[in-house]
Amino acid sequence: MRHDGDVTDQLRELRDEIKRRIDYRSFYLRYCPDARQSGARLQTLCPIPAHAHSGKGHPSLSVDLQQGLFNCFSRSEGGDAITFYELMHGVSYAKAVRELARELGLAGGRRRQPSLAARAAPDASELESFEPLDAEQTSEVCARFLEVCRAEDQLEGFSYLARRGIDARMARRVGVTYFPRRAYSRVMRRMRESFAVELLQRGGLFNRRERLTFYTHRLLFPFIVEGRARYLQARTTAAGVEPRWHNMRGHVPALYNVDALTPLATDSVVYLVEGFTDTLTLTSHGFNAVGLVGAGGLKEDWLAPLARFRVVAALDPDAAGRRASARYEEMFARRQLRLASVKLSADVNDFFRQHAAASLELELLTEAAIESQKSER
Ligand SMILES: [Zn+2]
Repeated sequence: MRHDGDVTDQLRELRDEIKRRIDYRSFYLRYCPDARQSGARLQTLCPIPAHAHSGKGHPSLSVDLQQGLFNCFSRSEGGDAITFYELMHGVSYAKAVRELARELGLAGGRRRQPSLAARAAPDASELESFEPLDAEQTSEVCARFLEVCRAEDQLEGFSYLARRGIDARMARRVGVTYFPRRAYSRVMRRMRESFAVELLQRGGLFNRRERLTFYTHRLLFPFIVEGRARYLQARTTAAGVEPRWHNMRGHVPALYNVDALTPLATDSVVYLVEGFTDTLTLTSHGFNAVGLVGAGGLKEDWLAPLARFRVVAALDPDAAGRRASARYEEMFARRQLRLASVKLSADVNDFFRQHAAASLELELLTEAAIESQKSER
């Protein structure tokens, strides 16, 4: 039992701030990627090392996502996210608080200087008055940024993807690039040596403090169109960070992975999915897939390159996914195009992690979806 009296004021403040900022779902999923969610609960095999579970049998760990509390029924041990972190990493309570605070980009400590994360924060949008870059400049900045980052250690980024079933070969093929936080200053300096600060600010790579805004978000996903990176979005690999994505300025130029369509035969099946992970999951398993990312979703201009394929939507099985499917079917229909939809029991990535025969199941569902569409004619 821990008493508040053991904790200094500073630590208590930091702990409260962590609890305000943390996203419990992604925090716990980092340690339990195979957890099943039902409502506001996760149920999973308990990964706490000191419990030394066999890894077989019934899932004994239950997480209440609203309160952020975990409980291992088998060892009768439970607590909050900070206690969970302590147990997973074998560190003290104070260290757990400080490390989680750092991951969340909270300043902590008594420093007058704002934290590195605060200094790297993107400018608030109402302050943005920079003229956006044109397409050519955007491509040049993207290409150089990727090149600079690729010279750094990719390991943490690639192991993050590997935990989601996307291997390094796949990641390299689509140009996914990472840099560790310890390389932040060097990456920033190299970018500053390559371009005028003003240009980097216009592209949203630097903020008004003239610092690289990709500080928390360092796993970069380029949009490659006709062989060139045209835009990029970056994800955080840390648990519990919101927002999870950070983009350069400008607009998503195309469907993600659109270049993969070029060599395909007419009438090939092409899946339309949500996000980078689902796109790469399907591609890894030998399916053709393009991804919708970011708000705004599908744009009319992007339909033309899809016209010669049999497009099958495999969107998330939630209300938003169903609404999107219906809307996209109408968009396709307005252009005399057909869009079939498959309904999976989970998003594509989870579906492939949970089902040993996922590829076969998806093929069967796809055939059925395409068949039922023909019979509607
Ligand atoms: Zn346990």
